Amino acid sequence: MEISGIHHVTAIASDPQANVDFYTGVLGLRLVKLTVNFDDPGTYHLYYADRVGHPGTILTFFLWPGAPRGRRGSGQVTLTSFAIPSWAVEYWTERLAEHEVLFQGPSERFGEQVISFADPDGLRIELISSTCVSAGKAYKRGPVPADYTIHGFHSATLCEEGYQRTAALLTETLGFKLVQHEGNRFRYAVGACEPGAMVDVLCAPEESRGRIAAGTVHHIAWRAADDQQQREWLKEIARLNYNVTPVIDRIYFHSIYFREPGDVLFEIATDAPGFSVDEDTEELGSKLQLPPWLEPGRAEIESALPPLRLPSVARSVSP
Ligand code: ZN
Repeated sequence: MEISGIHHVTAIASDPQANVDFYTGVLGLRLVKLTVNFDDPGTYHLYYADRVGHPGTILTFFLWPGAPRGRRGSGQVTLTSFAIPSWAVEYWTERLAEHEVLFQGPSERFGEQVISFADPDGLRIELISSTCVSAGKAYKRGPVPADYTIHGFHSATLCEEGYQRTAALLTETLGFKLVQHEGNRFRYAVGACEPGAMVDVLCAPEESRGRIAAGTVHHIAWRAADDQQQREWLKEIARLNYNVTPVIDRIYFHSIYFREPGDVLFEIATDAPGFSVDEDTEELGSKLQLPPWLEPGRAEIESALPPLRLPSVARSVSP
């Protein structure tokens, strides 16, 4: 049994409008789901991804209005990296400059070009040139021309005080293999050329502990093929003495959560049912979706949420 890569990454943001404008307007991702935090329905939960929200392409945000900035540090995912085609590096540096996004790079890491910048809340994002991109899944109706679009995750970086036990969990349990190593950065991969098939562990004992608030990653989720496999993972993770949650219904996937040895919150999420479970693929992200148990309170929830101007493509397909 092995994980088939990153399912999604969830981070914290403080301003819903700035968040939507940046991820759809600048980075050209599709808003595939507009919903609320199921555990805190007074706040938005926004999902950005490729055309239909394939696992491996999904970056989600809990919106904590007015939240202070967190601190990036150990025990966190400190870099969230997307894949772009190798010929798109110049396009992206020009695009970021045009949108007045300060960036570093391109610089080289493991033979690939890396462009690094922060989102409006200070969340560190990278675009990494990759030969491992397939045009089929890219979102082609956003502002970025099809040839240059983001192709899901390249990888994520876990910042760890020590890496041995995290490395052991990744390789001996989750099925990753060590594929590259340079200085204090260790790269692990699963499977083939799929979005989100890699994770880097940065061993940084000198780094202070991170504090989760705006501009930091809340957790990273790995892919389980189906509910049956997730039950197997639950058994295995519990057998290894991790304090793992029971399966939780997140409507778009089913999830279990536990903390890895370096304290990063890990989730294992199922590929199905996906984002078309409660609205047509064409209309993804065009209106507020609520899980059945919150639907009776819709009027109250809607009136408490701050107004949000949606991307024009999503709005044009709403009835
Ligand atoms: Zn999650």
